[in-house]
Amino acid sequence: MAAGTHNPNDLEAFWMPFTANRQFKSAPRMLVAAKDMHYTASDGRQVLDGTAGLWCCNAGHGRPEIVEAIQKQAAEMDYAPPFQIGHPAAFELASRLTEIMPGDLNHVFFTNSGSESVDTALKIALAYHKSRGEGSRVKFIGRDKGYHGVGFGGISVGGLGNNRKQFGNQLPAVDHMPFFYNRDTMGFSKGQPETGADIANELEAMVALHDASTIAAVIVEPMVGSAGVFIPPKGYLDRLREICDKHGILLIFDEVITGFGRLGAAFAVDKFNVIPDLVTAAKGLNSGTVPMGAVFVRDGIYDTVVNGAPEGAIELFHGYTYSAHPLACAAALAAQNVYRDEGLYTRAAELEPYWQDAAHSLKDSQHVVDVRNIGLVAGVELASRPGKVGARAFDVFLKAFEKGLLIRTTGDTIALSPPLIISKAQIDEIFGIIADILKTTD
Ligand code: PLP
Repeated sequence: MAAGTHNPNDLEAFWMPFTANRQFKSAPRMLVAAKDMHYTASDGRQVLDGTAGLWCCNAGHGRPEIVEAIQKQAAEMDYAPPFQIGHPAAFELASRLTEIMPGDLNHVFFTNSGSESVDTALKIALAYHKSRGEGSRVKFIGRDKGYHGVGFGGISVGGLGNNRKQFGNQLPAVDHMPFFYNRDTMGFSKGQPETGADIANELEAMVALHDASTIAAVIVEPMVGSAGVFIPPKGYLDRLREICDKHGILLIFDEVITGFGRLGAAFAVDKFNVIPDLVTAAKGLNSGTVPMGAVFVRDGIYDTVVNGAPEGAIELFHGYTYSAHPLACAAALAAQNVYRDEGLYTRAAELEPYWQDAAHSLKDSQHVVDVRNIGLVAGVELASRPGKVGARAFDVFLKAFEKGLLIRTTGDTIALSPPLIISKAQIDEIFGIIADILKTTD
């Protein structure tokens, strides 16, 4: 558009991410405010947040403690460069976060998103092996249906076809384990399926194929989120850990959505009692208020890379202009206080039985073919319309928004992950609205 002809109602300039732009712009849906469990739509309607924004606003919206911390930091020091100079909040936050982490995950590298956390973790894995004289370990193993963000590293180890097919050129040295879920044997499981862990043994076959001496790391989401909420069977993650240990391969958990209380513990690491070598995080770190991500690293990895370099040398040639941005750090410190003071890391565990019953009450609703849940997460899978995968769930999304409920859909699965401050009445409201909509959806 030419200068001087700017039209504030023009929707064309903004190329929206992961959005059907033409469809959206013909019938836009806008959010203009948010407080606690609700958004306000541009027409003034209150919309119950069934998705914590995008799996990130775990403390709910507009929390005064977090808002004030951001405002105060912006006034005090808006920005500080992160290379060869520091600011105190970054160190304080790192200490706070590594205290929460189990085992010797005692170091943290800050990024600005989940995608950057994933690429950072992959690079640290490579640097670690190189530092200890095993530079031949350059391959990564992901898993079918994995989502690890949208960087080239992330889409390479990721296993979602749609996220890859427009972009032919990806990391060459990547392979994928098979997906673990089988609806015939695991459908309508409550929490972790009892059986099915044996599929983790496929990793052994892949190690035999590629040879352990070429493999740097295995990366998985401990609970599959973006592909439609799939909970690993009991024993599956333990088995991956054993196989990685046996072959000197690093194990990375991508906790971008499971971190910060989503499953009823601070991290999935605690929930599943399996300690990986690196953990990627973002989203709930500061309750989604300022872009920020993090990679947690075990002592041995940090020590190897840092001590392996000559004194005075930069040990890891990696970092972002906004790593440990002061506003993001201030927001994260305030969010951590809210999580601690309100017991939000265990709240999902307390609500889980109620949430689970509410989710599974949809079992006999029209079109429902599976319900999966853990912590404060649920996936309600609908049968697809013939030849139109995703259309039915998207209809439900549109109707829910009209009725004042924000849900998320992926394929024909409705994915629910509300802020951890949700009440039981609001849980009833979520599933009541969805049940009503399903009755009238073709
Ligand atoms: N990894 C996982 C497991 C995710 O769920 C996501 C986002 O949903 C990402 C990485 C990417 O995070 P971001 O969108 O902040 O780059």
